[in-house]
Amino acid sequence: MFEDEKNCIDDGKDFINDEKIWEQINAAKNPNPSEIREILKKSAKKIRLEPEETAKLIQVEDKELLEEMFALARKIKEEVYGNRIVFFAPIYIGNKCENNCVYCGFRNNNNSIVRKTLTMDELREEVRIVEKEGHKRAILVYGEHPDYDANFMAETIKTVYDTKTDNGEIRRVNINAAPLNVEGYKKLNEVGIGTFQIFQETYHHETYKKLHPKGDRKSNYKWRLYGLDRALEAGIDDVGIGALFGLYDWRFEVMGLLYHTIHLEETFAGVGPHTISFPRIEPAIDSPFTLSHKYKVSDEDFKKIVAIIRLSVPYTGMILTARENPKVREEVLPLGVSQIDAGSRIGVGGYKQFEKGYVPEKEQFQLGDMRSLDEAIRAVCAQGCIPSFCTAGYRSARTGEHFMGIAKKSLVHNYCMPNAIFTFKEYLLDYASEETKKVGEEAIKKALNQFEPEKREFIEDKLKLIESGQRDIYV
Ligand code: SAM
Ligand code: SF4
Repeated sequence: MFEDEKNCIDDGKDFINDEKIWEQINAAKNPNPSEIREILKKSAKKIRLEPEETAKLIQVEDKELLEEMFALARKIKEEVYGNRIVFFAPIYIGNKCENNCVYCGFRNNNNSIVRKTLTMDELREEVRIVEKEGHKRAILVYGEHPDYDANFMAETIKTVYDTKTDNGEIRRVNINAAPLNVEGYKKLNEVGIGTFQIFQETYHHETYKKLHPKGDRKSNYKWRLYGLDRALEAGIDDVGIGALFGLYDWRFEVMGLLYHTIHLEETFAGVGPHTISFPRIEPAIDSPFTLSHKYKVSDEDFKKIVAIIRLSVPYTGMILTARENPKVREEVLPLGVSQIDAGSRIGVGGYKQFEKGYVPEKEQFQLGDMRSLDEAIRAVCAQGCIPSFCTAGYRSARTGEHFMGIAKKSLVHNYCMPNAIFTFKEYLLDYASEETKKVGEEAIKKALNQFEPEKREFIEDKLKLIESGQRDIYV
């Protein structure tokens, strides 16, 4: 075991009990419809469910009940997050990796991958392209390698914030990387990191052990499980959890995500994860595991997963990535999703090589949605949503505990909807195609109708300021 790992996890009791989770799932078989409806009443009040309750939702197979669950998931999403969808772009910084996760194209023993780490100049180039597309939020992604220590990460975060183009800037930088120690997280906090995301991959111990070879740093389940505790201890406000669906039984992973949420809430005075991600395994070059895995999740089950997470943790952000194809994205978006990426390229230097499309030897896996941001925005508007590039919440300190308080009370509308409209207006003026402008202006008109006259007037005044050239207006 690595030295810092020994120091950090000795006290950490493992809060995932595999046997107990299976007992709960099995005990919930053939749930009674009246029981399910009682649980749904609790979700409707936006109270986080207990594992025994989520286990019962997991066991629902009755079509009518499932429809009721989907309908309530849609309603909760509307009430807590409104009809806005926040957009972001992933930027891959480096694909060197010392681990050998069998499902990942970047694993160390995959010789088909061309290894590359962006220089700061190359990173600036990537950022400029993403900004010129219209993005305001980025998530930086790294393999696990000594070259990518906290100092390096901090340098990349600073570089991203410092790179600006005309009206373009990245106002929020999130990270998806291997777990750090407390000192490392502090360095990232100092340079203004947004959310730190770590996916546990699978919460099932035996499966975790099988898929992450012994001796690799990543083989330490508990170091990863407590990775976000250390981030919160270090002062980072927002953390994101996730499971890679398809490694083990999806029902178990949903329970694992819930237990992780409960653990964080209990440990950090009610502050659970800021976001939950639920990626499914995608094909990757020379990675046979990605093509035939026993626990592959069907589209039908994927819908259930999204709805059950929404019903179980009504106030937590949910991220749906471009791993999914446009059709699946359209279908599951209303069931609870609050954030998506679009126009994404996941090769290192992938935005510069945009025209080449999918470049297998450079990418971690193959994306299902290769549409441009402009196209994805249009599609989201057609679904009746308002795209948002808002980052105001973080800059107004509406993060962590404070944010949870607001979200729980459904007050997000008062801040987030106006800010979504402002940032979307900026996008339409600065980056959108003519076609998207038309659709987008219509969407804004509709959104304005949701406000009472006084508030509406206030928003319209600000929109005029944006039209006259002001930027970065928020409440
Ligand atoms: N290397 C760091 C780590 O493993 O924590 C950073 C994250 S990795 C670059 C991003 C995430 O991609 C992983 O946590 C995993 O869940 C996901 N991933 C890996 N292989 C994948 C695949 N074949 N399809 C879809 N997602 C995959
Ligand atoms: Fe490396 Fe992360 Fe891929 Fe595992 S998932 S091989 S740690 S990049």
